[in-house]
Amino acid sequence: MIKGIAVSRGIARGPAYVLEDRNGLPVLRRRIRKDGVASELARFETALIEAENNLRAMQKSIRKRLGKREADIFQAHLMLLRDPAFLKQVTHRCSAQQINIEAAVAEAVDHLCGAFARIGDALFRERAADVRDIGRRLLAILLKLLPDEAMEVPPGTILVAAELFPSMTARMSLKSVRGIVTELGGKASHASILMRSLGVPGVIGVKDAVTRIHNGDLLIADGLAGTVYVNPPPAVRREYDRLLASFEAHRQSLKSLVDLPAVTKDGVAVKLCANIGKLGDVEAAFLFNADGVGLYRTEFGFLVRDQFPTEEEQCQTYSTVAERMHPREVVIRVLDIGSDKMLSYFPQPEEANPSLGLRGTRLLLKNPGVLKAQLRAILRVSAAHPVAVLFPTISSVEEILKAKALVGAAGKELRAEGVSFNPNIRIGAMIEVPSAAVLAGRIAAAVDFLSIGTNDLIQYLLSADRASQEMAEYYQPLHPAVLQTIKSVVDAARAAGKDVTVCGEMAGNPACTELLLGFGVRSLSVTPGELLETKNLIRSATIAHAGQLAARVLEMGTCREIEQCVARFAAPRSVLATTSTKLPAQA
Ligand code: PEP
Ligand code: MG
Repeated sequence: MIKGIAVSRGIARGPAYVLEDRNGLPVLRRRIRKDGVASELARFETALIEAENNLRAMQKSIRKRLGKREADIFQAHLMLLRDPAFLKQVTHRCSAQQINIEAAVAEAVDHLCGAFARIGDALFRERAADVRDIGRRLLAILLKLLPDEAMEVPPGTILVAAELFPSMTARMSLKSVRGIVTELGGKASHASILMRSLGVPGVIGVKDAVTRIHNGDLLIADGLAGTVYVNPPPAVRREYDRLLASFEAHRQSLKSLVDLPAVTKDGVAVKLCANIGKLGDVEAAFLFNADGVGLYRTEFGFLVRDQFPTEEEQCQTYSTVAERMHPREVVIRVLDIGSDKMLSYFPQPEEANPSLGLRGTRLLLKNPGVLKAQLRAILRVSAAHPVAVLFPTISSVEEILKAKALVGAAGKELRAEGVSFNPNIRIGAMIEVPSAAVLAGRIAAAVDFLSIGTNDLIQYLLSADRASQEMAEYYQPLHPAVLQTIKSVVDAARAAGKDVTVCGEMAGNPACTELLLGFGVRSLSVTPGELLETKNLIRSATIAHAGQLAARVLEMGTCREIEQCVARFAAPRSVLATTSTKLPAQA
């Protein structure tokens, strides 16, 4: 048994599919048919030519800027690209083993680097670095040329990876994956959010998973206890069979909630919306009968492309979503990139602390053209559907005023062009930076609604990277400072007469839902896969009890006390939230 951190509830059982990670480039190894070899080799030739062109262009520009000596480094790379030994390694692997060209390149690079390392000479070590570099360049080109179907992880497998970045997962088809296990990441990292949105069990922080687990190993990924079993003995398998059966029964019983309202036992209605990213999520939100979309993360549509989507393309995408949810409102969050979400075609300067660097609204305000195109697209959709616009990572009143001014400017342009839109479109600010939480009342006065992004709020308030496994012990949703901050933001919004939603992962965390109700929250937005579970919690709570729980907790000064209090006094939880597995450790 390998211990990790549970991030997405449920249990998965199936063969492992280990994702090779080449410096952030996902390499899927696929068997190809004999008659597919020629087209793989043709792709290789195309990639070689593109790599040569890129290298020549870089050589030229470096020669101009830095001189001939620096530019000569690229000459070595150009020669390596056509090195007969390298080419033979790649082509032979592809044709003899009948594997896709990306896997052949990755394995040939490994082979050559291993051979160089064994020689142990400094010169060969440098040569190994050059081989790795051209390998990376070729893989980046090949992955870009790859059709999306080829990025499908084999159905029914459990994906095992070192780390999953949004730029990788955006292009991978994970729809038939049973579970996900990673070495790195944090509970609130985007990969963990993705696991919950896919509704697949997930365990992160599994040390050396990629080397300890092999393709085809039978895995049990327990996304409740945070454990992974590799080729477990029959006793463990039987125990999990039993557990899986009880989950299935529970899941079935939740289905009866789809058409019931999210109302507490004492009759208080709660607006229960969905967080979405890709079009598939909209279908889930619709099927689970969400009251609307509380957070549409638009990054996904940008991550899957090679260049900025045009205003027209954006307009079509947002229309599809809004049409599906009509007449329910869709809150469209403008592009929140920077930090761990980067666009290959919009490079940003390297930053020592990316999550403290240029991201979200700050980045957009520095690139008003990008923001303007998106705002125009959203406004155009607003003519026919109820949509709202939400600005991420707001940290000051000035920022939200500038952002609002750009909405006004986009509207003015459309009006001049005779294009219709809703001039009263609701504008919201995310409260996810501590300074915005402190100024929540003033920010609320400037907008129509607030949306509390607890994922970033916790990260910045507690100074604990949301994506870091090492920081997991410091990243505490039930930290008294987090709870007091949320309560004060809710109070500030109410005092200003503005709506407030909680849309971070806390909203769908069974340990937090009742507490949030107790703080006065009446609008939650959660991953579609968590809608029914959250509705179940709302329907089993009373506002009177939630209020008492919240009052008690707000008196407390430590996470431990709060956790104990929540565990003891919270309304009875459902089986998915409480079941823990006590199983024999694997030999
Ligand atoms: C948040 O920070 O809580 C949030 C909802 O935004 P994201 O997770 O996309 O950063
Ligand atoms: Mg955020």
